[in-house]
Amino acid sequence: MFKKQLAILLATAAFAAPMFAQAGDHHAGDAAVARAYIKEIQDADAAYIAAHDSAFFKNLAKGQTPRATVVTCSDSRVHTNALDKTPEGDLFMVRNIGNQMATAKGSVQYGVNHLGSSLLLFIGHSSCGAIKAAGGDYSTLEEPIKKELDTIHITKGSANIDGVKTNVNNQVADALKEWADKVKNGELLIVGAVYDFADDMKQGAGKLNVINMNGETDPAKIRNMPAQAAKAGHGHGH
Ligand SMILES: [Zn+2]
Repeated sequence: MFKKQLAILLATAAFAAPMFAQAGDHHAGDAAVARAYIKEIQDADAAYIAAHDSAFFKNLAKGQTPRATVVTCSDSRVHTNALDKTPEGDLFMVRNIGNQMATAKGSVQYGVNHLGSSLLLFIGHSSCGAIKAAGGDYSTLEEPIKKELDTIHITKGSANIDGVKTNVNNQVADALKEWADKVKNGELLIVGAVYDFADDMKQGAGKLNVINMNGETDPAKIRNMPAQAAKAGHGHGH
């Protein structure tokens, strides 16, 4: 334990200075930071293995029937432990900049059509860099990045949280077009949400604000929808 902490301390001491001195130059000292981090990751994996019995992994090896296909931004501040403590086998994750269907459509189709998720959840988040970029001039960025921003349709210059919400609603609208029949038949629920760690929506920092259910954006109506769905599900014996 002490050895590990010492190694981290040394890595921090040796490389913190140049990193802070040259903010923006991410290459200085990165490999050493990365070596320290990969060791941390391996230790965390060992702890994860220790915390789970063999039945847990045997069960995973059997296959997956994820209840939800989740499309979130790649942002490092957004993770599933905020919304599901045991996501293994349950959340089919698709991540990209701006939590989009257009730039990862095959992955989303795989989750819904082939793994049979009955919940398709799009999660945007406060302070989204992709939304910020898409709402401004991104013409000097790399071509592949530009391509992934071109499919974000928001009003230029609007507040970040407004762009985030518009983008989430756009994703739900696109998905509703793709899976109109499944939604109509009650086989699929499409939900748009904003994970708001900056409390831009004034509902509390860290709240997952559901803003769209199958195209319904009226908060009062949305609040009643999960209860109705649970009731309907019960009636069909699920
Ligand atoms: Zn983002």
